[in-house]
Amino acid sequence: MKKEFKTESKRLLDMMINSIYTHKEIFLRELISNASDAMDKMYYKELTDDSLTFNKENYYIKVTPNKEKRILKVSDTGIGMTKEELENNLGTIAKSGSLAFKSENEMKDGHDIIGQFGVGFYSAFMVSEDVTVITRPFGSDKGYRWHSEGAEGYTIKECDKDSFGTDIILKIKENTEDENYDEYLEEYKLKSIIKKYSDFISYPIKMDITESKLKEGAEDEYEDVTEEKVINSMVPIWKKNKSQLTDEDYENFYAEKHYGFDKPLKHIHIKADGLVRYNSILFIPENIPFDYYTKEYEKGLELYSNGVLIMNKCQDLLPDYFSFVKGMVDSEDLSLNISREMLQHDRQLKVIAKNIKKKIKSQLEKMLKNERDKYEKFYKSFGRQIKYGVYEEFGANKDFLKDLLMYYSSKEEKMVTLDEYVSRMAEDQKYIYYASGESKERIEKLPQTEMVSEKGYEILYFTDEIDEFTIKMLMSYKDKEFKSVSSGDLGIDSEENENSSEGKDKESKELFEKMKNILDGKVKEVRASKRLKNHLVCLANDGEVSIEMEKILKSMPNNQEVQADKILEINVNHEVFNSLKDAYEKDNDKLKLYTDLLYNQALLIEGLPIDDPIEFSNNISKIMK
Ligand code: ADP
Ligand code: MG
Repeated sequence: MKKEFKTESKRLLDMMINSIYTHKEIFLRELISNASDAMDKMYYKELTDDSLTFNKENYYIKVTPNKEKRILKVSDTGIGMTKEELENNLGTIAKSGSLAFKSENEMKDGHDIIGQFGVGFYSAFMVSEDVTVITRPFGSDKGYRWHSEGAEGYTIKECDKDSFGTDIILKIKENTEDENYDEYLEEYKLKSIIKKYSDFISYPIKMDITESKLKEGAEDEYEDVTEEKVINSMVPIWKKNKSQLTDEDYENFYAEKHYGFDKPLKHIHIKADGLVRYNSILFIPENIPFDYYTKEYEKGLELYSNGVLIMNKCQDLLPDYFSFVKGMVDSEDLSLNISREMLQHDRQLKVIAKNIKKKIKSQLEKMLKNERDKYEKFYKSFGRQIKYGVYEEFGANKDFLKDLLMYYSSKEEKMVTLDEYVSRMAEDQKYIYYASGESKERIEKLPQTEMVSEKGYEILYFTDEIDEFTIKMLMSYKDKEFKSVSSGDLGIDSEENENSSEGKDKESKELFEKMKNILDGKVKEVRASKRLKNHLVCLANDGEVSIEMEKILKSMPNNQEVQADKILEINVNHEVFNSLKDAYEKDNDKLKLYTDLLYNQALLIEGLPIDDPIEFSNNISKIMK
């Protein structure tokens, strides 16, 4: 009886078969990688089960093309699959999350994102008319034959198989106008694909190679000789010398391992020979994984014990703030039988984790110093995570991470580090100034920045929700404290301004008092502004909670009550101030109207919602009349 693939699988399969892959040849990489995984499982079983004996010769992959029958067979001596496993592993393809991702990111640059789906096996359909899987699971004397012609479905039957392991049998498609499938039956092509993508697979990949050879004893007579050869070098890439490896080797490894669908921005190859011996290859991805900023994302590195994979995602090897790092660690000093709980307390592992953390940081610093563009690319993707790292754990890691921070600068009109900012501060400048807002464009127009900019001071733009929280945790950088351009006291001495506004402040004390009463608790104070030059009005704030923070906290479900202490600042040198005074002296209703308008204007400038838009609009009409 034919069974249908689960719906999502069907859609995905269709999509994959019909999509234009620049690299159809990667199907072989996927099949070999699965074969290798299956043998890892077997190998692990034999190593850890005393009743089994281990024989290295038993482990190999064999690739066999048959041109006449248009068949390509990939066999392994791995653990095989039970009937249930066949159903579960080859009957369902991807989870919906990945599917959603696909539709949003229409296979942009031909990067193969198959790996992201966990649908490696299905890539076989890109080159096959039909696929047959003959498998016998370890510990069973029965085998199964799975067969499918594509999206319609599949059948499973019992069958005989001599030994455990799996044969994947592909019926290779006929050539089309734009696609040459014949080459997947050619020895030389298969050999080069294996070399390219699967060279470091730790089991031998064998193939019968036919070569023309000089006949024994003859001088110019040749004959075809077929010999079984091992195609791959089998040395895992992490055990090779760095000098032997090219960027492309690392990129292939990254793709093979499905660490990401992008190309890595940077690789770090560690060969540690100290107290704890280990090899590690780490990658900093270029793009954000589609689920990175969601709960589903799991950090971690692959953990090997002397070449045998013991854990897929070892979380203890990476701190949260470097959770974007992908890669693996192989150590001879770890036991194979180690459990998750034991790992958490493992001293060796702690040493490795600490080491890795430092290496990643120094690599990032190096990138910042020598490859600025690359660093900025990285920061655009993962800077938020670094900022979060400064903030979390009550700032425990702030000193470790602070030099990796970057913000957009008003003066440089690009991203700058805190060190760069501080190093060019004016002599009389006391603080590191920042302004918060939704976007660069919005901040640029904030009236609060006038005074600071006029002074010639640089302002850092905070556009990330986390920014102000990060800085609150950091408190200062190189003994310079941070100061918001909206804060009550800017710490700028400007005499003319001070005198005149102070004078007017006293003079207008009663007016401001009255306005404050009109606003009825909405602001803590109304006062003459020292920071406004051309603009009429703005909000400033004192105290712990800034206006930006209020916005953010209010948008969270449980924090409705947080309020920033708002101060309404009026530019007393502005023409409109005279109208205000006039109203105060002559017309109480008018003063009320003006006050309301000013307050709402200030809210709008901050990007805060106004209490009653209709009233606001009516008030404006009233004035226009
Ligand atoms: P992934 O390898 O990412 O899990 P695949 O689509 O490549 O996804 O394979 C799906 C599953 O099918 C594997 O996880 C494995 O359980 C099973 N499988 C595939 N090929 C083999 C094989 N040669 N031997 C044993 N199991 C296999
Ligand atoms: Mg796979």
